[in-house]
Amino acid sequence: MQSELCDMIVTGECLISQDESRPVLTGGVAVAVKEGKVAAFGKRSEVLTEWRSGDVRDLGESLLMPGLVNAHTHVPMTFLRGFADDLPLMEWLTRHIFPVEAHLTREIVALGARMGMYEMMRTGTTSFVDSYLLEESVLETALSMGMRCVGGEVVFAFPSPAYSGMEGAAELYRNHAERFPAGSRVQTALMPHSVYTTNDDVLASCRDLAEELDLMLHIHLSESSGEVAQSCEQHGGRRPVSYAADMGLLSSRSVLAHMVDLTDSELELVARSGAQVVHNPASNLKLASGFARVDEMRSAGVSVALGTDGACSNNTLDMFETMKLAALLSKGSTLDATSMPAADALRMATVDGARIFRTPGLGTLSVGAPADMIALDLTEPNMIPVFNPVSHAVYSASGKDCIMTMVDGKILYEKGCYLDGCYEDTRLALGDLVGWVRDRAAGK
Ligand SMILES: [Zn+2]
Repeated sequence: MQSELCDMIVTGECLISQDESRPVLTGGVAVAVKEGKVAAFGKRSEVLTEWRSGDVRDLGESLLMPGLVNAHTHVPMTFLRGFADDLPLMEWLTRHIFPVEAHLTREIVALGARMGMYEMMRTGTTSFVDSYLLEESVLETALSMGMRCVGGEVVFAFPSPAYSGMEGAAELYRNHAERFPAGSRVQTALMPHSVYTTNDDVLASCRDLAEELDLMLHIHLSESSGEVAQSCEQHGGRRPVSYAADMGLLSSRSVLAHMVDLTDSELELVARSGAQVVHNPASNLKLASGFARVDEMRSAGVSVALGTDGACSNNTLDMFETMKLAALLSKGSTLDATSMPAADALRMATVDGARIFRTPGLGTLSVGAPADMIALDLTEPNMIPVFNPVSHAVYSASGKDCIMTMVDGKILYEKGCYLDGCYEDTRLALGDLVGWVRDRAAGK
């Protein structure tokens, strides 16, 4: 039989495919990549018989798996990593973060975004959902750095550096929807910030615009008890979820980040709506917001993805840490060690988060899926021995065990090297910003 030509073949020791027919393979595996997609995966001997390429990469004793999906973050905020810690959400946001962000420039956003993307590709994340000010810089940076991104300009009821008024925001979104179209590697989604930083008009406009442009709509919702109190005060006694429902924001188009403070009836409402939830365990714990009722949401049929939130409230973008934390928090909060098994946590960090991208096959290594793949080093002490690769991915690995990151069939990071060659410049430039941030925070 004549073998078929492909662009690259990657070989390793075992593989998690998330493909329902052959979820986990061990004893020597390979993935053939062609035109940015997975052309074949399976036993090494079979793939090497059926496929050939001038680029065969043997990653030795490694675990090949789909790249992780960070379903809620603000990548430019790496420039504020460690700047204001150990504070409650509203004080942290209004007294420390917003005053510095009032001085943002496109250059700072792009610089922070670059570092965030380096961190994600270093720690095994290939796709991320982002919202921030001057988000165009994030979208452009994702395009040039090769990462997969759904990004949207954050919409407030107050002035923004990227647009003036809701009409300006709508114009910006129409432009972004054309430049970063649905289904492509870098695409946009409507991102009203929250119910406490917007109003009826802004939320209604965002909802209508998402319909008009056929975009997903992503919002921070019910993140803390403080937000709930504020919502009741601002919106005639309505808690964030019922207010969002009244505004038509709960649908299969919606992605709701956090959802920490949730009543039984709100949980049912969200489940009926088909909205997706993003659980951000590290950020919720660090800001003392509490923890989401993830197990009850999942039992009610809600699709729950995982996110890190920004590097300022986490303080890393390592999705391996987030996966483990989600699984442990589930067990600790339910006092049930069988709640959220490793395979469920991995599914949340891959397939469930991938739904937001509306890209068939994303989050798996199945045939025809985008070749978004990572490899973990199984020779590290924390990865030995191997009984169950899924267990290692969730409980034993850290992002630093990642030795290769590929998006759309292109390797972005391999064995200590960021292949765009700009890491050093980014690192030095971001270090130089520390003084600038301190001066802005001091009102200089
Ligand atoms: Zn957030």
